[in-house]
Amino acid sequence: MKADVDADRCQGHARCWQICPGFFSLDEEGHAYVESSDVPVELESKVRDAAENCPERAITLS
Ligand code: SF4
Repeated sequence: MKADVDADRCQGHARCWQICPGFFSLDEEGHAYVESSDVPVELESKVRDAAENCPERAITLS
């Protein structure tokens, strides 16, 4: 599974990071980014939760 953050949509709520800090990182303005789109198998469930809870629908899964 892959996950990406659309920087144009992200408003910096940090919900994704609260749900799965092992995958999402925050920049100095609180906007989320990912080091690598490849989601470790053990984090897939949490990353899905994060995508569903992003108020801006900024996280895409593939
Ligand atoms: S929850 Fe969505 S809007 Fe908030 S920081 Fe994460 S990607 Fe950005």
